[in-house]
Amino acid sequence: MIVLSSISKRYRMGEESFNALAGVDLHIARNEYVALTGPSGSGKSTLMNLLGCLDSPSSGSYVLNGRDIASLNDNELAQIRNREIGFVFQSFHLLPRLSVLSNVAQPLVYRGLPPKERERLASEALGRVGLASKLKHLPNQLSGGQRQRVAVARALVGQPSILLADEPTGNLDSRTSEEIMALFDALHAEGQTVILVTHEADIAAHAHRVIRLVDGRIESDLRQSPREAAC
Ligand code: ADP
Ligand code: ADP
Repeated sequence: MIVLSSISKRYRMGEESFNALAGVDLHIARNEYVALTGPSGSGKSTLMNLLGCLDSPSSGSYVLNGRDIASLNDNELAQIRNREIGFVFQSFHLLPRLSVLSNVAQPLVYRGLPPKERERLASEALGRVGLASKLKHLPNQLSGGQRQRVAVARALVGQPSILLADEPTGNLDSRTSEEIMALFDALHAEGQTVILVTHEADIAAHAHRVIRLVDGRIESDLRQSPREAAC
């Protein structure tokens, strides 16, 4: 499903430039559950942003579901992002003035679906993350773990082929982190492809494959027996 070949990403800062990724080759198949780890500055977020079509590589090729991403224009990229990718961030990135239901329905606006249909799908996605009773709440009326569930519902509502999560438990206490990981485990068990960034071993232990980046290169890529969520 994902094929990265010789991917490099160079950031320019005035005269200087920096290779955040250098020659990354990576295949990820449908329904894999991958944790991306590595020290701070090793290129994890850069790689996630490329996988999520938020940014494009300086060189190399990225084929997602048979389409060559590097050849697409901004419009086409935005469409792929909207249809194929669900993104979850460390800091939730919910819109504070919109209800939980409207936050989750937001990605469907770009698909031209009528409001009733958007609400139906959003409420279904909120049911999947256990928040069917919070549709009318505002984000600041929810706990951190609940806000991240809303963000997961928003990522899922458009039925993306890949769920990407960049440090999804970074702002949560360890118990709430385990609850969020139990949710990712369940989504994976239902067939969702999941790729997450974490620097915590307990979180990475949930995945079936752990890829470690160091200095913009893949240092190791290991299959493992996942640890079941502790709740
Ligand atoms: P990680 O997520 O593993 O901490 P990042 O992918 O965020 O690593 O960053 C990799 C390297 O690229 C770091 O040295 C970082 O400072 C640099 N970098 C990231 N984003 C930018 C940017 N927009 N401009 C310049 N340098 C960047
Ligand atoms: P943090 O909590 O440290 O800001 P996040 O996980 O929220 O980290 O964000 C990770 C990266 O994704 C950051 O570099 C951020 O700039 C970028 N980012 C966050 N939200 C969006 C968005 N809606 N669209 C594009 N990029 C985003």
